[in-house]
Amino acid sequence: MNSVQDIWNEVVRILSRQLTTTAINTWFSDCEPVDYEDCRLIIRTPTDFKRRIISERFRPTIEAALSDLFASSDFELIILAEDEEYEKNDGGDGILPEMAGYTFDNFIVGNSNKFAHAAAISVAENPGKNYNPLFIYGNSGLGKTHLLLAIGHYIQDNNPKMSISYIKGDDFTNEMVKAIKEGTTEEFRTKYRNVDLLLVDDIQFIAGKQSTQIEFFHTFNNIYEAGHQIVITSDRPPMEMSLLDDRLRTRFEGGLMADIEPPDLETRMAIARNKATRLGLILQDDIIAYIASQITANVRQLEGVIKKMTAYREIMNHEINRETVDRAIHEVMVSGDEIPKPENIIRETAKYFSLSPEDLKGNNRSKNTALARQIAMYEMRQLTNLSLNDIGKELGRNHTTTLSSIRKIEEIMKTDPDIPGIIRDITSNITTLSGKH
Ligand code: ADP
Ligand code: MG
Repeated sequence: MNSVQDIWNEVVRILSRQLTTTAINTWFSDCEPVDYEDCRLIIRTPTDFKRRIISERFRPTIEAALSDLFASSDFELIILAEDEEYEKNDGGDGILPEMAGYTFDNFIVGNSNKFAHAAAISVAENPGKNYNPLFIYGNSGLGKTHLLLAIGHYIQDNNPKMSISYIKGDDFTNEMVKAIKEGTTEEFRTKYRNVDLLLVDDIQFIAGKQSTQIEFFHTFNNIYEAGHQIVITSDRPPMEMSLLDDRLRTRFEGGLMADIEPPDLETRMAIARNKATRLGLILQDDIIAYIASQITANVRQLEGVIKKMTAYREIMNHEINRETVDRAIHEVMVSGDEIPKPENIIRETAKYFSLSPEDLKGNNRSKNTALARQIAMYEMRQLTNLSLNDIGKELGRNHTTTLSSIRKIEEIMKTDPDIPGIIRDITSNITTLSGKH
């Protein structure tokens, strides 16, 4: 018997024949093999971003490598991100991912999220009756998935007969493509169209994918017309999803839209305290206040710092003081989960076009410079939590120019075959730079 580590080492060895060392380092050096059973390889990658890229770009190559290795076919690759659990007996029947902590009980309500929270409670208590769809949007790490799953858990507990499907936007695409390839579109449709509650996480990933959007449109209509509930999350409102099919946009906007903003200081303190308590970590008020004052834009990072300190305590019997906290904050900020800094994005994009950051910030309208500038904005939109306004500011542009620049890139990506590759390379340069290596 080979251990899963052996299998993974072999897969990476095969991949290295086809991919550059940079690609291998960027995407696979911090991948961890988790399990292997029944022709399923389960791997874990530290960030959701990497999970998506590996899934979209390397899935066929990895599955082919497995076929190569075992001289057989039909392998399935399951990619977990962060601390997602792998469900061994997952029959693939659209059950909720465990994430047991994602309940209303564990959700701290503050000004920044109270509207979304109230809407979620209302939907959980009266599915299909009040707000349909419920569309929750906001930046990464602010609790969208938490609320989405809290609705799922609540309904599962209170209406055990209701059927629930949970799907991520990019997995919807993957599953659909697979179903078409294997001639199982009927099963695929039944699985998502005939449910009482459909939870769709990160819908932004289906925008621009024509056939997925059409399929989703029909899925949506079936569920909606049956009076069943749909809840959707996205990193931005429908209006800002430039490649979203208009029919879908209209549907989404016809429900209730609820945004989540970054939490204020008081809420951040409450979240930090709640998390510490759940982990059995006793923290003084001044330490809680200090952490909450340092981490402002992302609840996931806030939780990351608390988890880190729990680990310190267990490993080294450390006393918790400012110094330990600073160290935990530093480690969380520079870990693989780090969001690239705008100046790095601008620098790497400029460098790719043999330009300087000042060129991109200036007014030169030559074709090359304009393209580089637009790509830099596009990359910032893809890789950071910045608003259109903030992205514009980085390059001395306003909100409108920024939005139209991003749209332009999204358009050219469809018509100019060179652009997706260029963007991929630039993204890789940026993320390699901000990652651990
Ligand atoms: P998103 O889906 O918006 O990127 P998540 O729902 O994954 O964010 O939240 C990131 C982490 O922060 C999760 O562990 C979640 O439980 C936690 N979290 C976010 N908001 C809250 C909140 N208001 N109360 C408690 N935990 C929260
Ligand atoms: Mg999420």
